[in-house]
Amino acid sequence: MRALLSVSDKTGLEPFARALQELGCELLSTGGTYEQLRGAGLSVRRVADETGFPEILDGRVKTLHPKLHGALLATSAPDHEAALRAHGITPIDVLVVNLYPFRETVARGAPFAEVVENIDIGGPAMLRAAAKNHARVFAVCDPADYPRVLAALRSGGGAGLRLELAHKAFAHTAAYDAAIERYLAAQLTPPDAQPEGHAPEADAALPPTLTLRLERAQSLRYGENPHQRGARYREVGRRGCWDEAVQRSGVALSYLNLFDAEAAWRLVHALGEAPAAVIVKHANPCGVALGESIERAYRRAFEADPKSAFGGVVALNRPVSEALADELLANPKADVLIAPAFVPGVAERLAAKRKNLRVLEAPPPNRPARELRPIDGGFLVQEPDTVLPERAAWRVVTERQPTDAEWRDLELAWVVCAYTKSNAIVLVKDGQALGIGAGQQSRVDASRIAAQKAAGRARGGACASDAFYPFRDGLEVAAEAGVAAVIQPGGSVKDGELIEAANELGLAMVMTGRRHFLH
Ligand code: 5GP
Repeated sequence: MRALLSVSDKTGLEPFARALQELGCELLSTGGTYEQLRGAGLSVRRVADETGFPEILDGRVKTLHPKLHGALLATSAPDHEAALRAHGITPIDVLVVNLYPFRETVARGAPFAEVVENIDIGGPAMLRAAAKNHARVFAVCDPADYPRVLAALRSGGGAGLRLELAHKAFAHTAAYDAAIERYLAAQLTPPDAQPEGHAPEADAALPPTLTLRLERAQSLRYGENPHQRGARYREVGRRGCWDEAVQRSGVALSYLNLFDAEAAWRLVHALGEAPAAVIVKHANPCGVALGESIERAYRRAFEADPKSAFGGVVALNRPVSEALADELLANPKADVLIAPAFVPGVAERLAAKRKNLRVLEAPPPNRPARELRPIDGGFLVQEPDTVLPERAAWRVVTERQPTDAEWRDLELAWVVCAYTKSNAIVLVKDGQALGIGAGQQSRVDASRIAAQKAAGRARGGACASDAFYPFRDGLEVAAEAGVAAVIQPGGSVKDGELIEAANELGLAMVMTGRRHFLH
């Protein structure tokens, strides 16, 4: 067995490498990682000795070599094995990589050149190779997974874990690239639009003058209420997802249909790659769930709060199947259904059975450059909020650490909470949002509503709060609802007391450092 280790975050590295070695694993490593392992007295080989090619260009090229990528990507097919023999390549079974700290470098305000130097190239390439070849290779990008990898290697199993790690590796590289994209997008602002002393990021979305030309794109049945007229406008020369969307059936859309459809469509696309369903009512989610299948995700989203789902907007991130159509038809009415596609015949069947259901087939939403809100004499303008479940940037502040299952629920709760009107409290268990307290003026009331809706079902799950808890009462409500872990931005003068309260209540608490008010 062979493992390649190349990590920037060296947390837990030594004991893990030692345990790998004890399991008979040969260790390969890059510069800094090699030095540390050698320093710890482990026997480790430099990748440069393996490839016969030195690290060059100040580390820009360390592992980009066919001997390593061949070792990661080869399957056990006879022709692959023959190719490995022909080129003197020995397969790698465990890849341990975490990436250059790009986000951390941006966050501490480093100069442009330094930020660029912190774009990892070889690390993502190896992670993606190992994740693609998960049938054989463990792609390990998070030190928290080291114990499970060792357990799997000891037991000789691990197929399920390898797949899970592959998903995690791709989620990790996707979030990493998204952070690079956001950073570079912010550098594209023309210099004359950057008054001195302003962060370039702010100016990309907020130039000194803003010219908007809008054209009427769609008549709507009426405005927010039937006595108000309403229409959808778009920026001249641009097309959004609602321009590309096809309405497969149902009566014309109203202003609120589109308003809620936008909220549901954005949220379902913020939930990652697993099958996901969202039900929105009055701009707030009342059901959000992930599932192994889209049918299951929808059922779980609906069951979270069936009463509120009545007349809602259902958004799905997978095509609508016959089975899903059966489920939809078995439930009380939804007003709008949005999905990326429909299995042939399904949209027609829904149209025939539910005359009033507006069925929309739509491409994913685009991220707007800015958000506008009318105010007397003009508009309030802001950059759109972004929310990423970025565990690496979060801090566990309590004695108790979240378990893996709790981490997953924390991440989901956090995203849902960011898409819920403030004050928002969201309770999640096993990938299902079971209590959503939305749009309350007091955080403890939002907590009570969320707990009341969850009605005991969030026991052992996670609770998210879109802004810090000003008092411990909100935490107490979460603990009474039975959650095991809480996620919140932190940043209150009372943080110390809150941490103490969480410890007393036996909760794990994570602070993200980022507030997600939504109005
Ligand atoms: P070390 O501290 O071992 O010298 O470097 C570890 C870091 O290098 C890891 O974060 C890994 O992702 C990164 N890395 C590995 N190979 C390459 C490469 O070929 N190019 C670049 N730019 N980074 C690499």
